[in-house]
Amino acid sequence: MITKGIKKLNTFKLGYVSLLMCFILISCSGKRVDCDTCDRSGRITCPQCMGEGQAKCIYCGGEGRIDCASCDGRGREHCDWCAGDGQMDCRKCNTSGKTAGGQPCKTCEGTGSRRCNICSGSGGDACKTCRGAGKKSCEDCEGGGMGTCSTCDGERSIRCIRCNGNRFYFERETP
Ligand SMILES: [Zn+2]
Ligand SMILES: [Zn+2]
Ligand SMILES: [Zn+2]
Ligand SMILES: [Zn+2]
Ligand SMILES: [Zn+2]
Ligand SMILES: [Zn+2]
Repeated sequence: MITKGIKKLNTFKLGYVSLLMCFILISCSGKRVDCDTCDRSGRITCPQCMGEGQAKCIYCGGEGRIDCASCDGRGREHCDWCAGDGQMDCRKCNTSGKTAGGQPCKTCEGTGSRRCNICSGSGGDACKTCRGAGKKSCEDCEGGGMGTCSTCDGERSIRCIRCNGNRFYFERETP
């Protein structure tokens, strides 16, 4: 009893599907023609990479180098001692610029601050990551500037855009 019911349902479904197919075929007045864009192969040379399978690296934009994260692309790192000022408070005179006797401090020549001797007044060292260049080699493309083409996934050819890989397409008949 139950099996009979399922069978009935399946027949109904099958009939519905074939009816739908007929409807699609009738409503499609186009003529089936071979695709000459892909020469009936269904695949064309990837227009994005021109068949090289490679495209500009997305990460570095094809430059092969990116801003150094350690120094923000400045090429220098702040000196820890003077916080990048290049100057340090004069301890001898306690930044007053004067000695206890009221004479100008010889260490800082009366300015109250003296050149940082850790960074020699430059305020920073050449960044160790990029060696002061401000940019470092892109890890994604290893500095080559080229990466795998995302359009063809590095396969060099993609599905034909005109026939969508079907090797043929429907050409509308003029009434
Ligand atoms: Zn095609
Ligand atoms: Zn890159
Ligand atoms: Zn310093
Ligand atoms: Zn001083
Ligand atoms: Zn750096
Ligand atoms: Zn490609």
